[in-house]
Amino acid sequence: MKIAVSGGGPAGLAFAAFARLADPAAEVTVWERRRVADTYGFGVILPPAASDTVRRADPVLAGALDPHPVRWDEIAVHRHGRSLSFGSPRLGALSRRTLLGTLRQRCAELGVRLHEGAAAPGADALRASYDLVVAADGAGSATRDALAGSFGTSTARIGPDYVWLGAERAFGSLAFLVADTVEGPVVAHAYPYAPGRSTFLVEAAHRPDVGELAELFAGPLGGARLLENRSRWSRFVQVSNSVWSSGNTVLLGDAAHTAHYSIGSGTRLALDDALALVTALHAQPSLPDALAAYEAARRPAVEDAQRTGRASAEWFAALADAPPSSPEEFLVDLVTRGGRISMGDLAVDAAGTGGAGTV
Ligand SMILES: Cc1cc2nc3c(=O)[nH]c(=O)nc-3n(C[C@H](O)[C@H](O)[C@H](O)COP(=O)(O)OP(=O)(O)OC[C@H]3O[C@@H](n4cnc5c(N)ncnc54)[C@H](O)[C@@H]3O)c2cc1C
Repeated sequence: MKIAVSGGGPAGLAFAAFARLADPAAEVTVWERRRVADTYGFGVILPPAASDTVRRADPVLAGALDPHPVRWDEIAVHRHGRSLSFGSPRLGALSRRTLLGTLRQRCAELGVRLHEGAAAPGADALRASYDLVVAADGAGSATRDALAGSFGTSTARIGPDYVWLGAERAFGSLAFLVADTVEGPVVAHAYPYAPGRSTFLVEAAHRPDVGELAELFAGPLGGARLLENRSRWSRFVQVSNSVWSSGNTVLLGDAAHTAHYSIGSGTRLALDDALALVTALHAQPSLPDALAAYEAARRPAVEDAQRTGRASAEWFAALADAPPSSPEEFLVDLVTRGGRISMGDLAVDAAGTGGAGTV
């Protein structure tokens, strides 16, 4: 089978590697317009379920990824000079660059043809020359949009305005920092992803600049610098499609669906899609059957994540009008926002920080 993959993010690269492992005779070509060093963002949360998916599909890749995530099993809230931490399910994060670099290395070992720094040919050219075209070119997929109308694509901007920054400091765990300004509250989601590095994603209706944020969070940052990498204020776009395939073209990862970043699940969904598509291609007698089976297998989990993501996005957006008065109030609301965790699941440990700051 001759397969073209447009986009070498987590979805496209994982699919390419899994497809070659499952069928070494398959000819798999990936186009990725950016070099690894040019990728956007900082660290991404990779829940244990994502590592399990990779281990099932490719134990060698799982072994290569294993040493990288920084792991934690508590969540902290900082508000009005006080901190509250509580035990959480085990989570981990790693640098997006490391994730992509490791996936590219594995693709090279498995004989995937990777055109790096090259935009994919147009959708019509790909459809005419390949048995299967995998559109893994992200939320703004050009391959999908070139076939406008075929997928029933809808987009909605959800949640608060945000900017994805990094910090030159490794926080001890996932931490939510809530600060007040005269223009409204500012919320930072911070978590470690490498030695001396954290993701520092900030939400605020008035879009403060990096200098203002560094001052506002000077206490928790402890003098560490905030970092930018293609960072700009925007609002999250939730992408949905009423069908995920048309003819020999199939949508994968963010091209098919996005779920709000506050539930940290986009990369996991992309990896699960990749494995499900490869599984369907080998289990089903024809391409149309395989593409239908892939969508049927993945749609319920994706829609569940999108529902949870939307509820979470709405909760974070509502903080602008009614910020919680204490870490305890934040905690209760936070864990019940998506209806997935109950207070009984948490081991809460409250501590006054004695800090005089606003965070
Ligand atoms: C602020 C923010 C924070 C996030 N945090 C997390 C998190 O903590 N955990 C998590 O799991 N997920 C997180 N996500 C989501 C996660 O980044 C995505 O869901 C995931 O990267 C999807 O993978 P993908 O391969 O489908 O798409 P992408 O990662 O977007 O990859 C698509 C690739 O296609 C390439 N491309 C696009 N067009 C072309 C073209 N014409 N030719 C060639 N290449 C092309 C792009 O360069 C890109 O590399 C976050 C998202 C955002 C916006």
